[in-house]
Amino acid sequence: MRNTISILGVPIDNITKEEAGKITLQLVKNSNKSCKMIFAPNTEFVMKAQKDKEFFDLLKLSSLSTPDSVGIMLGAKLQGKKFVERIPGQAYFREILRVGEKENLTFYLLGGMPGIAEKAKENLKKIYPNIKIIGVHDGYIEGEEEKKVIEEINTLKPNVLFVAMGAPKQEKWIYKHKEELKVDVAAGQGGTFDYEAGRIKRAPKFIQKMGIEWIWRLIRQPKRIIRMSVLPVYVIKLLLKKDITKGKFDVERET
Ligand code: UDP
Repeated sequence: MRNTISILGVPIDNITKEEAGKITLQLVKNSNKSCKMIFAPNTEFVMKAQKDKEFFDLLKLSSLSTPDSVGIMLGAKLQGKKFVERIPGQAYFREILRVGEKENLTFYLLGGMPGIAEKAKENLKKIYPNIKIIGVHDGYIEGEEEKKVIEEINTLKPNVLFVAMGAPKQEKWIYKHKEELKVDVAAGQGGTFDYEAGRIKRAPKFIQKMGIEWIWRLIRQPKRIIRMSVLPVYVIKLLLKKDITKGKFDVERET
């Protein structure tokens, strides 16, 4: 049984990064290539899901959802609940690579602009020398190209497919192809490959620790202001829902 906290109807697992690593490994071992879905909801996710029923419904079908942002932590707080830890997307990614290196898992990186996943792979090899990233492809694929990529993934049969196309594109893509993909788990990874490739610099550690990395990102990518404009509405929605959302509820983990 999962211990989740519901943020505006989106169930998010209340676990540590290490637990997320262990659960992922367990999912890989039990999956038998049935493509279990792993998501990392943040505030923008939850707000997009309020207006997009397809996205809202599929977020409930994950086998694991990690709390990615400060806004998600706040969402729990406003219900008198507390996530044990925030798990930023990149931290989860690194944890799975760490566990995967030890456990001999295989990985495929799908997403980002041409060359980004390749560069990320090269950089990650320096951190995890025995990591098995057996395939990479950019995330701008349609029609025939998309078919070819799926064929390649299915020939390689990686344990873990990371899909980094931004939300909700990556979650919808995983869900749409779930039945045909021969992977154990598929995880949405947002802009992680951009960080790992060095295309976008993350904030200094102390800023990350203070939970204000979003300000750093905003300064470096001012276009994000449009995406962040949903934040005040998010807080209002949370306050209005405060009494009717019971927060913790049980969800059966699809193993
Ligand atoms: N992207 C992609 N295919 C697309 C659209 C976007 O691979 O069709 C990639 C884009 O290059 C970027 C990532 O998806 O690397 C989205 O990054 P963003 O920072 O927006 O994601 P977030 O972490 O905020 O969800």
